[in-house]
Amino acid sequence: MALLDIKIYGESVLRKKSEPIPAVTPELAALAQDMLETMYDAGGCGLAAPQIGKDIRLVVIDAAKPDEEEPAPHIMFNPEWGPEPDAVDVIHEEGCLSIPDIWCDVMRKDKVWVRYTDETGAQQEQHNCTDMLGRCIQHECDHLEGKLFIDKMSTTDRSLNQSKLRDMAKKHKKA
Ligand SMILES: [Zn+2]
Repeated sequence: MALLDIKIYGESVLRKKSEPIPAVTPELAALAQDMLETMYDAGGCGLAAPQIGKDIRLVVIDAAKPDEEEPAPHIMFNPEWGPEPDAVDVIHEEGCLSIPDIWCDVMRKDKVWVRYTDETGAQQEQHNCTDMLGRCIQHECDHLEGKLFIDKMSTTDRSLNQSKLRDMAKKHKKA
């Protein structure tokens, strides 16, 4: 197990579309464990592979409330998601381990399904994912498309955070 370096806004890998994973190997399963450890250490509820510098379709999520619920780690290779038929749009505050100190309201679906390959190579499907889990699935899958939650923020939030984001990008952009 090892802690991985979390990439910060401005690094180009965060804007890349990630590649599908042809097969779950022991190396990839070990990488997913390291991602979980890194996520817990940073106090996050989700982490996508681009955030540790790899443009592959892998996300880890644990939407359980720390100190209140048992840990519920999910490792998802090649995840796909969609809204449930009765899903509606809801607004909730979000942050991201790759965009420290910025929190803002983001509109997402309140109820989604997700399909993925787990760390054993088995196909999994989960329905009616709501609350934190549903939101994390959408946020982390966005990372695999090179999308960030700040892309969805309001124009007010955008102008409020503009200089913070510009400074962050400048500091972390590779020459
Ligand atoms: Zn994020």
